[in-house]
Amino acid sequence: MTTSVLLTGIGELATLDPRHGEPLGMLFDAALLIEGTRVAWTGPRTQAPAADAAYDLGGSAVVPGFVDSHAHLVFAGDRAEEFAARMTGTPYSAGGIRTTVAATRAASDDQLAANLVRLVAEMQRQGTTTVEVKSGYGLTVRDEARALRIAQQVTDETTFLGAHVVPPEYADDPAGYVELVTGPMLEACAPHAKWIDAFCERGAFDADQARTVLAAGAAAGLRGRLHANQLGPGPGVQLACELGLTAVDHCTYLSDADVDALASSGTVATLLPGVEFSTRSPYPDARRLLAAGVSVALATDCNPGSCYTSSMPLCIALAVREMGMSPAEALAAATRGGAAALGRDDVGHLAPGARADLIVLDAPSYLHLAYRPGVPLVRQVWRGGRELG
Ligand SMILES: [Zn+2]
Repeated sequence: MTTSVLLTGIGELATLDPRHGEPLGMLFDAALLIEGTRVAWTGPRTQAPAADAAYDLGGSAVVPGFVDSHAHLVFAGDRAEEFAARMTGTPYSAGGIRTTVAATRAASDDQLAANLVRLVAEMQRQGTTTVEVKSGYGLTVRDEARALRIAQQVTDETTFLGAHVVPPEYADDPAGYVELVTGPMLEACAPHAKWIDAFCERGAFDADQARTVLAAGAAAGLRGRLHANQLGPGPGVQLACELGLTAVDHCTYLSDADVDALASSGTVATLLPGVEFSTRSPYPDARRLLAAGVSVALATDCNPGSCYTSSMPLCIALAVREMGMSPAEALAAATRGGAAALGRDDVGHLAPGARADLIVLDAPSYLHLAYRPGVPLVRQVWRGGRELG
C-alpha cells in the first residue's frame, strides 16, 4: 500500500509549477503531500488533505531538489597543486585533463566507485537530487566503458565523453583517436550511456570532429550534448543548435549569431559559473541570454581540474552575484532548467506527479541561498519521497 506523507508549515514553497505563477510558482504558509515516490498535492496549509504521517516544518522554505546536469565524477586523484599554480598566475588550458587521465587509468574499479559515491553524497548533502555523470578520464575502450559502468551505479544520466581530450598516445594521430571514439569505444560504451558529449574547443576537438562524434553517438541511440565556447569564441554552440542537441554547456564566449541560434533552437544553454570562479575567468553573460529568451540551466561542472565544487548553492550565489541573474532566475535555472538540460519533466519542480525530490532549507526563504553564500542551509533532502539520512 502506498503511504502518504504531508509536509506542512512550509513558510515558502517554490513549486516551480506555472499554475501557481511564474517564475517560481510560489506558495506561502503551504503544505505538500507525498504519495509513494511522487508529489500528490501542493496548496495552502489550511486546505491540506489528511495523510498517514505529517511533519511540521516550522516555517522553513522548501525548494525542488537541484538538478546538476553537468558533472565529471569518475576520476582518481586531484589537481590541488595545479589550482594553486593557477591562482598565482598560470592560465588554465584543456591539457591539464591528461593529468587526471593518468591517475584514473591507474586506479582500481573500487577506488573510482568509492570516490564517485563520496562525491554524490557530498552533492546530496547540498541539495542535489539528480546528477549527470560523464566519463572522459579513461580515454581507452576499457577505461571509458568501466567509468560508465561505475557511473550507472549512481545515476541514469550517464554521458559518454570519450571526446574529452586526445590522449597522449594519440597526440600525433587525432584522426585515429576520433575513429577509436566513434568505433570500438562507442560500441563498448553505448550500453552504459544515455548521452554522448564532446569538448569542442581549441586544444580539444574541432567542429568537424565533434560533429562526427555526435553523429556516431546518435546512430548508436545516444542523445547529444556538447561542451562549447568555454575558453574562447568557436563553432560549438551553433553546431549544437543546428543538431538540435538538448543542451550546450559553458557558453562563455558567444556571438550575436550564437545567441540567436540558442533562442530559436530551444537548445538549453547550461552555465557553469563555478568554472569561471575557480579559473578566475570572465563569466558568461546570463542577462544577454535571458533577454533573448534562451533557456538557461545552472550546473556545477564538478571536476578535479577547472572546478572542484559540488555545490549547487554556490553556483546559485555566483549566478546572482557575478552574472546578474535574479535569485528567482537562478533557482529556476538550478532546478527546472537543469531538468530541461537533461530532457526531464519529472524532476526540477514540485507539481503533482513530479518525483518528490525536495530540499527543506534552514531559512525562511529561498533568497537566502544567494544572500548567505557558503552557509550550509540545506537541512533536509527528500528524494523519491524519502528523507535521505
Ligand atoms: Zn565539463
